Amino acid sequence: MHKIRTNYDVIVIGGGAMGLATAYHLSKKKAKTLVLEQFTFINQLGSSAGVSRQYRIPYPEEYMVQMALDAQPYWDELQSHAPMPLMDKVGTLWFGDPKVHSTEGNIAEAEKSLKALNVPYTSLTSREIEKKYHFTNLPETYTGLFQADGASIDLRATLQTLYDWNKVNLHVTLKEESPVIKIEQIHQIFQVTTPEGAYTADKIVIVPGPYINNVINLLKFKIEATYWNMSSAYFKKTDPKIQYPTWFVFQNAEGSNGNQFYGFPAVDWNHPEYIRVAPDFVIEPLDNPNQRTLIPNPQELAYTAEWVKKHMKGLDPTPHYTSTCLIALSKIPNKELLIDFAPPYVANNDSIVVYATGWAAKFIPLLGKILSEMALEGHTSYNIEPFQMGYKYFKSM
Ligand SMILES: Cc1cc2nc3c(=O)[nH]c(=O)nc-3n(C[C@H](O)[C@H](O)[C@H](O)COP(=O)(O)OP(=O)(O)OC[C@H]3O[C@@H](n4cnc5c(N)ncnc54)[C@H](O)[C@@H]3O)c2cc1C
Repeated sequence: MHKIRTNYDVIVIGGGAMGLATAYHLSKKKAKTLVLEQFTFINQLGSSAGVSRQYRIPYPEEYMVQMALDAQPYWDELQSHAPMPLMDKVGTLWFGDPKVHSTEGNIAEAEKSLKALNVPYTSLTSREIEKKYHFTNLPETYTGLFQADGASIDLRATLQTLYDWNKVNLHVTLKEESPVIKIEQIHQIFQVTTPEGAYTADKIVIVPGPYINNVINLLKFKIEATYWNMSSAYFKKTDPKIQYPTWFVFQNAEGSNGNQFYGFPAVDWNHPEYIRVAPDFVIEPLDNPNQRTLIPNPQELAYTAEWVKKHMKGLDPTPHYTSTCLIALSKIPNKELLIDFAPPYVANNDSIVVYATGWAAKFIPLLGKILSEMALEGHTSYNIEPFQMGYKYFKSM
């Protein structure tokens, strides 16, 4: 029997960071690829909104430390295609209450993993953190670690580099304003429908960021997730010489104040006179991504401004350039990335690759490689066992 000719080898659903990175790697294998994006490319409405992200190696799990290390050569490769630096390597500072376990992990556990993998870092006391990194009024009991390979990622430049590559690549077609509204299967072939038309492919990669359920529901399964509409703000430097690394503070919640914050250095590529500081919590998680707003929660901003005022030197504690970013987080404890094929009750499940949930900007080029291999070869050379959690978290509808 002759195989029916499809329009594409692979259709990538979602044109955010992961979709563009997957297309980049597919193009290198000369796979005929279509990327469908419901909004415009490089939009501010998904999980890749805003400009800066943290690249860090400390994680409580050794496999996450390893993954951050493994991502580095892929960043170097992507950098070779970019006219501007994609990262500003200012280091990672983790500090706070050593007893706190947060969604980021725990300082002592991260130290153990770094040690096990021979990653160099420095342990710090509260006073050393204050002296070297401009924080102040920290409790004596706080501890910290500094890891010099951490960086601030220029996410917009990363997306632009991937977009520019795909735009001129003969193997890739990019279509924006193309929401996927139907996925059908005709024998082994996928027909993916948007209001503009239907396209066929042998394989599909599903990377719709926080809109994950909107897409996998079309194939009659879902993932239990909670949605965080995260606030962010910039604070003006009053001391032009002051510079911070990328940092995260571990503290226990106090009432509605989740009390965990993270921040960035001043960078040339965005409001260079300002420093970005953001809360790593939301007061009210959402049940549905459609409930998000573009206005940050004022109370979350107030808690952030209070932290800046009390603990950071050289900044005016008035929030400026505020924004939000939407992310889907699964209920997987610590293992927030879910990378898998569709569950077995979906026809041709091994031709459907899904990436969902979690904090993954630091892995963008590596994840693109993993997802492209899964689509083209049906497996990946990378060990994704810790992330292959679909059997537990995908539910049939
Ligand atoms: C506030 C915040 C801070 C973060 N900080 C860090 C950090 O410091 N370090 C780190 O490593 N990670 C961080 N992350 C996580 C990281 O930014 C995300 O993991 C990453 O950007 C996700 O990219 P994505 O391509 O999966 O999703 P997205 O960028 O959301 O892209 C998905 C795309 O799919 C499109 N889409 C959805 N449904 C459809 C459909 N039906 N048809 C067509 N297109 C569709 C969407 O419009 C969207 O453009 C942070 C996230 C947030 C929100």
